[in-house]
Amino acid sequence: MLSKRLSRIEESATIKMGQIAKKLQEEGKAVLNFTLGEPDFKTPEHICEAAKHALDLGYTHYTSSAGIDELREKIAKKTTEENKVDCTMENVIVTPGAKQAIYELMMSVLDYGDEVILLDPAWVTFEAAVKLAGGNPKGVKRIEEEVKYESLEAASSENTKLIVINSPNNPAGYVLSENELKEIAEFAVAHDLLVLSDEIYEKILYGRRHISIASFDSMQERTVIINGLSKTYAMTGWRIGYAVAPAAIQKGMLKIQQHSVSCASSIAQYAALAAFENSQECVNEMVAEFERRRDVIVKRLNKVGLRCLDPEGAFYAFVNTSNYGNGDEFTERLLKDAYVVVTPGSAFGAAGKDYIRFSFAASMENILAGMDRIDAMCTLPSSSKYSR
Ligand code: PMP
Repeated sequence: MLSKRLSRIEESATIKMGQIAKKLQEEGKAVLNFTLGEPDFKTPEHICEAAKHALDLGYTHYTSSAGIDELREKIAKKTTEENKVDCTMENVIVTPGAKQAIYELMMSVLDYGDEVILLDPAWVTFEAAVKLAGGNPKGVKRIEEEVKYESLEAASSENTKLIVINSPNNPAGYVLSENELKEIAEFAVAHDLLVLSDEIYEKILYGRRHISIASFDSMQERTVIINGLSKTYAMTGWRIGYAVAPAAIQKGMLKIQQHSVSCASSIAQYAALAAFENSQECVNEMVAEFERRRDVIVKRLNKVGLRCLDPEGAFYAFVNTSNYGNGDEFTERLLKDAYVVVTPGSAFGAAGKDYIRFSFAASMENILAGMDRIDAMCTLPSSSKYSR
């Protein structure tokens, strides 16, 4: 009954863990959930007000498929000024979430048998989107050691079409260094490859600077930037993402958008416009709070021998559990013995098998309670503490 294509992909592991947490909660268990990939803050008031205003004005119909002109122009201006990628609204497509942009891109550029290089571990949707579009993912390990030209070379073949990067990274929390970006860019140019650069966490940084690979020489014509408002403005439910792409690819993605979702929500698009046009202080406040939580988690986990580097961006700690078993085993123990729910690193690729992902998009109160439960469970003395 079901297609062969569908049999190539699994249910989303991150969503599945969230559902386990919810079920235990409904059974009355005092569950602490650290699986979520969404900020726990309210969407800032001025953004909600803009949506109410759009409703009052009757902006409740289809918009043009690529998005309202004002928003596309704003995104082009922001990308040109902040990311140093010289573009116009013709390069921009507004989508119902960044996820949809990723699917539209894969469907636009991949043919059956094309290979796609993913940095392993990689956020779960990349692999699924590649496979649904008929492509084959190839992993290059990137957790603590940097990506090198040679490692990309080793994973590539004559069928390689695309490289996917995501910096700041979900799940591993790194920010790609300028040097790595240069090597990836050189490799892409030398082999005439496209690059998907998922920059959705670009504002959630701890002392690091975001650089878009599209700003490097000869890269804009081969790079599709994926971005969105879900993380930066705590707007996951509004479903607004976007891509900035070479014009031909933007047109390809638009065709798929026209025949699938038509457009992103009209009301949410006006809210997104307000998010860009107003003070960015709300973003700074959220990032400062994430940083406080990050510091607590990293210190407390390292203390019990759960090794983790300081996340440089995004809101996930990628924690090495090998002092206590592999990531799957430790996830199960945490769930059974402490009602603490995390995502096993294996969900993100083979390189993540000795890790768990701990989201700190959870309240400080829950983080402290979770750390106390982990303390009680883990008796190993403090092992090698290290920071990036
Ligand atoms: N890219 C990455 C790397 C993500 O972690 C997520 C959310 N988990 C998304 C894209 C999806 O964002 P959106 O809500 O805009 O679909």
